[in-house]
Amino acid sequence: MADSSPQMPRAGVDYPKTFGQFQEWFSTDEACLEYLAGLRWPGGFACPKCGGRDYWRTGAGLWMCKVCSRRTSVTAGTIFDRTRTPLRTWFAAVWFVTSQKNGVSALGLQRVLGLNSYETAWAWMHKLRRAMVRPEREMLSGLVEVDESFIGGVHRGLPGVGPDKISVLIAAEHLDRNRIGRIRLEPGPSDRRLALVKFGQRVVAPDPPSAPTGRGSCGDSPTSATSTSTSPSWARTSPRT
Ligand SMILES: [Zn+2]
Repeated sequence: MADSSPQMPRAGVDYPKTFGQFQEWFSTDEACLEYLAGLRWPGGFACPKCGGRDYWRTGAGLWMCKVCSRRTSVTAGTIFDRTRTPLRTWFAAVWFVTSQKNGVSALGLQRVLGLNSYETAWAWMHKLRRAMVRPEREMLSGLVEVDESFIGGVHRGLPGVGPDKISVLIAAEHLDRNRIGRIRLEPGPSDRRLALVKFGQRVVAPDPPSAPTGRGSCGDSPTSATSTSTSPSWARTSPRT
């Protein structure tokens, strides 16, 4: 390794800023494994069975505990688990998907990575997108409009919901009258009864218990609202209890 190379990146701290840096850091699968190991064990390896800190590397991304001989895969439980594709190709996909300001298409991913099939590129893209959603992300709060819309199934002269229209559930925070904050989207279920209510319960934080304020009305304070109509109704559905 040339002296001009930067130190090995600290996993979870250092992220490549340019494509050149990315290529330099992650030129081999071993470099990718080391980076993943740093993410998995920020304080150094710790055996999940006995807590042992000493290990042997046994190939194929396995760390073997010197105390109890348990072998732990550094990619277990990640989107890279049991992949037959070189990790550096996966890392390149991550770079591509996360560095495109205006989003990426499966076709773009296929071209950049030289993947054989569009289907593979599409599956990768969706795997990465799912992984990019923080599982512990906060729920929406404040004044939230929950509504349903339909896409697809264009029929002239046929108003209403056609059989081939797809329902999409939408929840949007209202920051003020003209601006929305965070949003959540979800495909609607085939059984639409109570779907909006259940969706709202999943993505909108319940109001905190109201404390007595000594004032007669709190009608102007932001609070969660659920609308089941198809027209904007956030203003009038603000509870005034
Ligand atoms: Zn152990």
